[in-house]
Amino acid sequence: MKQRLVVSIENLNHYYGKGTLRKQVLFDINLKLHSGEVLLMKGPSGSGKTTLLTLIGGLRSAREGSLKVLDQELCGAKTKDLVRVRRDIGYIFQAHNLLESLTARQNVQMSLELHDDGKQDIRATAAEMLEKVGLAERVDYYPDNLSGGQKQRVAIARALASHPKLVLADEPTAALDSVTGRKVVELMRNLAKEQGCTILLVTHDNRIFDIAERTFEMEDGRLFERELS
Ligand code: ADP
Ligand code: MG
Repeated sequence: MKQRLVVSIENLNHYYGKGTLRKQVLFDINLKLHSGEVLLMKGPSGSGKTTLLTLIGGLRSAREGSLKVLDQELCGAKTKDLVRVRRDIGYIFQAHNLLESLTARQNVQMSLELHDDGKQDIRATAAEMLEKVGLAERVDYYPDNLSGGQKQRVAIARALASHPKLVLADEPTAALDSVTGRKVVELMRNLAKEQGCTILLVTHDNRIFDIAERTFEMEDGRLFERELS
């Protein structure tokens, strides 16, 4: 398979606050992610993992250095360019962020509607995605009536339904027990592999370190690649 550069980061710095409150949280980050790779990032709380993920995801503006996502330079980019790149990214967060007033199917449909090209049957595609994550029997359930693992699987179906080129997952197993957490992550990896999409997964969870092809560690705002043993 041809390896395409999905994310390319060079000498990226990031700061929060202004004036005397200005504080640097990312230091000289360099990172290249290719198509189809599964990557894992760990590191202590407060080390800058979420900040880096939100910058890559175009959810926060990068200002210093270079951050290219799917060939778009996000450093100093205009809002409309950030919005465009977001369409090719699937997001999965620690809290599943499902809308409680919508059923599982409607939650997945919502994401598909944002990408609607009129070519697909959104209702059917949503149900199909839920089937793939093992929730065929739960498509019309509201989040309230789903377990933590099931909700996170809906979140995965929602993130992957539109075939994003990149999935950013921020501690997606944090609220799950270890067995469920592992299953959820394996499911996410298998689906992403099927679609050739790149996953960048932030986790503290020791039990899922082996699912990735490359592992990075964030320490006080600096990123190091760890050799696999
Ligand atoms: P992690 O995800 O690894 O726990 P974060 O990226 O959330 O780390 O945070 C990195 C540092 O930036 C921490 O010191 C945190 O307090 C600070 N920080 C995070 N978000 C903000 C923000 N919106 N405004 C100011 N400081 C922030
Ligand atoms: Mg975080």
